[in-house]
Amino acid sequence: MIKSLNTDKSAEFIDKILDAFIICPMCISRQIEINEFVVNHRSPSKKNNKKNCYICHGLLSKISYMVLSINSKIKKFDFKNWLIGIKLPTYMYDNEDVVRSKFKIRGKKNIKTDFLERLRNAIGILLKKPLVFKKPDIVINLEIYDDDSFEVFVKSRPMFVLGRYVKRISGLDQKNKICEKNNQIQNHVQYNSDSVGKIYHSIEQIIKEKLAVMYSDKKEHQIDIFWIGGEDKDSLVLGKGRPFIAEICNPKKRYRSETDKEFCTDKNYAYKKNFRKKGVCIFIDKILDALPKGKIHFVNKIRIYVQCNEPISQIDINKLKILKEKEIVTDYKSNRIIKKIYSIRTKYLDTNKFVLTIISDGGLFIKQFIGDNSSSMNTSVSEMLGRTCTCLKFDILDIDIVQMLT
Ligand SMILES: [Zn+2]
Repeated sequence: MIKSLNTDKSAEFIDKILDAFIICPMCISRQIEINEFVVNHRSPSKKNNKKNCYICHGLLSKISYMVLSINSKIKKFDFKNWLIGIKLPTYMYDNEDVVRSKFKIRGKKNIKTDFLERLRNAIGILLKKPLVFKKPDIVINLEIYDDDSFEVFVKSRPMFVLGRYVKRISGLDQKNKICEKNNQIQNHVQYNSDSVGKIYHSIEQIIKEKLAVMYSDKKEHQIDIFWIGGEDKDSLVLGKGRPFIAEICNPKKRYRSETDKEFCTDKNYAYKKNFRKKGVCIFIDKILDALPKGKIHFVNKIRIYVQCNEPISQIDINKLKILKEKEIVTDYKSNRIIKKIYSIRTKYLDTNKFVLTIISDGGLFIKQFIGDNSSSMNTSVSEMLGRTCTCLKFDILDIDIVQMLT
């Protein structure tokens, strides 16, 4: 409540404080809960002392200047709501305490609360967007240092993109390889000899580069990818493609238009011709609020090319059909992993090659399932056929997410 200054008591009190300290009207008004303009009117000679205020060193008169500085920083971000925090130098609290203990002032809001309220009002008026405490799109932090200089930091809430990729070329790793020598990403984007485009070395590079341009001011290091399964360098990923979740830290373009949902390695990239047949396509499906909880259960259809060390017949490979509805159990790093095979088809190619097409839970170790006779897996194709089999190559024909808790 704003009290009038008609009472002699208040007027005397202000005079007493101002006799002892140089204090700006805003800091005075906080001590006695009256409007600062009334204080100003009361002691016009002290007006010039805003900058020398014992408590705030003129901080409260710099609000509009600070708001301009904040505005120039937050312009780079898309946001619908915001929150602000401040850090003041300790001398401000200490000096306010000195004044309050001298004049026995108790139970009034302190400089931080006062300043923050004023700042929030000024920003609210400027932005015309709501301040929220729960999950704000951006958090502004204003830090004021001991020498009264200040800095503005803005951070936006991370966003999670659920996407997919289809890979119709072999020879491209899924993940970036880190060079052991210098800890740098190996063979990061290179330009091919005729300079028509870039050659990528991983799906990760392609996804990160695209998402960085879409959401993150071109900073790829601010993107982390959570893979939903994986494949080999030479494997194709067909059908709807492999899903992935990308976390974009500090996104700038949170509410970008929804039109750019698909992109392919077309004219801007090395795989120029027939990119739909020979390239990589990235699809953006959904923006998630957070990372999914727990494990993501997915089922995939995989085509496996198998080579046998001894001649084999169609009758032999038909034996594998009993794997349908069977659970493949693997002991891996002190964990027991159970993956079910839902369907299996075989195709004879020649005397020692055949193709297996299976639908199974995602995450089955394919190479081990074909060839490894080690005891860590309860059964394998080699074991069932009584021959040593090797996985030459496998392609992912389709992937479906069965369960994902968001
Ligand atoms: Zn002040």
